Amino acid sequence: MIEVTVRTRNGAYPVLIGNGLLQGLPKLLTEHVTAERFAVISDDNVAPLYGEELLEAAHAVGLDSRLFTFPAGEASKTRKTWSILTDDLLEAGFGRDSCIIAVGGGVTTDIAGFVAATFLRGVPVVQVPTSYLAMIDASVGGKTGVDAKAGKNLVGAFHPPALVVADPQSLATLPREERAEGLVEAFKHGAILDEAYFEQLNETVVALLDADTKLSEEAVCRSVKLKAAVVSEDELESGYRQILNFGHTLGHALEAASGYRLGHGKAVALGMVLEAELGERLGVTDPGTRERLEVSLKGLLGPTSNTPNPAESICFLASDKKVRAGKPRVVLLKKIGQVDPGDRWSHELPEEMLEGVFAAVLGVL
Ligand code: NAD
Repeated sequence: MIEVTVRTRNGAYPVLIGNGLLQGLPKLLTEHVTAERFAVISDDNVAPLYGEELLEAAHAVGLDSRLFTFPAGEASKTRKTWSILTDDLLEAGFGRDSCIIAVGGGVTTDIAGFVAATFLRGVPVVQVPTSYLAMIDASVGGKTGVDAKAGKNLVGAFHPPALVVADPQSLATLPREERAEGLVEAFKHGAILDEAYFEQLNETVVALLDADTKLSEEAVCRSVKLKAAVVSEDELESGYRQILNFGHTLGHALEAASGYRLGHGKAVALGMVLEAELGERLGVTDPGTRERLEVSLKGLLGPTSNTPNPAESICFLASDKKVRAGKPRVVLLKKIGQVDPGDRWSHELPEEMLEGVFAAVLGVL
């Protein structure tokens, strides 16, 4: 088992990573959390796979616990699901001495984290991510929340977990397409911070897509260490943490313009290639960076079809969260493994260049 520590304003929390850790989860809970009752929150895909087993194991060691489920999918990440879960917890008599255990992908870790952040003004949450995306990204860093009509993740709270337990063996049941989409964030970690990791991902991509347990464990550890270092330095995203948004400004615009039919991973992958093309045109990013990203991400995802109309995507940029003084901002690479510092880690988006950038990238992907 590997332990990575994430520092926060109010202390620190451990991220435990290891194959087989789920089997010992109740014992880890008793060691790391002080609570009288445990509410396990999971979606209806993951609950039968891991939630129910966890509940049985918790009961076996005498932990007072109960399972709450909601329908799987991003469409459930709403205030409506948040209010249903919150009311169910209240009805079941959960109080301030409770702890919430989120078992699932990023939708579950986000919504259960937000329930925990707000339930009786805040109870602890333990994140048990079961998708690549949740293990290497969503469960680490304390961001929780739900989507709103105006956009994704617009209502939420910073609520650092008490503990994160990632068992890469659970990736075996994750659909292959979800594995590919989640691994985009691993490539992003390499692209912004660690060229050697980026190359290692290229070499092991087939095994990672097959959920090879040893290599997945290694990749999850490496990504979590990289993300943990960033969020420990800038928990509330006032500066340095923004580097994690590489690929997300243009990626989110594509995702929104597609009416969320384009998967998040695919959208961010295209966003990274677009932002590298933009950086090269501006003379900020080393020439050849866009091509390296494009080759790697095509190797991971295959060809991307049904990309949305560039003009519509450009319209969505105005509603991006990464605006400063009303202007959208973008994170640009210096080269693979290094972000250009820009002005507090981002650059103003030169909107007049976007049409050309979109045409150059979307035409060939
Ligand atoms: P998800 O939670 O919808 O999971 C994807 C699908 O895989 C779902 O159908 C789920 O039921 C299923 N699944 C998950 N684990 C499984 C397993 N082990 N076996 C079988 N099926 C499994 O989505 P995701 O891709 O994990 O996460 C996406 C969400 O994460 C988005 O809402 C995004 O906004 C959020 N996110 C949050 C942060 C953050 O910092 N809080 C960061 C990145 C992404």
